[in-house]
Amino acid sequence: MAFSSSNKPRCATCGKNIGTFTCRGCSQDFCLSHAQEHRQLLGKKMDEDVILMHDQLQQCLNQQVKQPSLHPLMKEINEWEKQSIEKIQLVAQNTRQKFLDIISKHTNNAKIALISIKEQLSRARDEDDFFEADINEWKEKLEKLKTDLNTPKAITIKLDDNMNSFIPKISISEGPMIIETFEKILGDIDIQDKGRLITHGSSKGYALVR
Ligand SMILES: [Zn+2]
Ligand SMILES: [Zn+2]
Repeated sequence: MAFSSSNKPRCATCGKNIGTFTCRGCSQDFCLSHAQEHRQLLGKKMDEDVILMHDQLQQCLNQQVKQPSLHPLMKEINEWEKQSIEKIQLVAQNTRQKFLDIISKHTNNAKIALISIKEQLSRARDEDDFFEADINEWKEKLEKLKTDLNTPKAITIKLDDNMNSFIPKISISEGPMIIETFEKILGDIDIQDKGRLITHGSSKGYALVR
């Protein structure tokens, strides 16, 4: 069927009424020369868009095969590791500091207890005033002091027992035991002001715990 010139399809490129070729892909009409040009443009587009993209992807894949450690997800794992370690180190550092604070108080108390016992021993020795029972009592006090120095009951390390947590959180606490143990060991010594001031029951001397 013949078209009148006004009914003829127009070439999508030059606009002339001689669009004798229709592209099946985009349904546009073209004249002969622009049909060829359209085909060439399509080929160029194929090279530039799809083939280039494929090659880039191939390159990316080669890179991943060669160095899987550079994968973005690997970086995520590394970041998680770094942050977790930093968190643990911070808690450990704080716990160590707290331990040092507590233990220095504790050893200070023990130091004063030892001085006090030494005074008692010297006095008893000078005055030659002691019997078997006294010796046993001092031995017992020293033994208790030794046990407490090695394994201080007043300091407790606690691990957060939340079973869901991957790593239990550590914490340290200081019980009221320091003063109690201290009082038990020394017997006749009064401890006031939470252990800061020690007055000897029998003598007039005193010592500052800190
Ligand atoms: Zn044309
Ligand atoms: Zn087309």
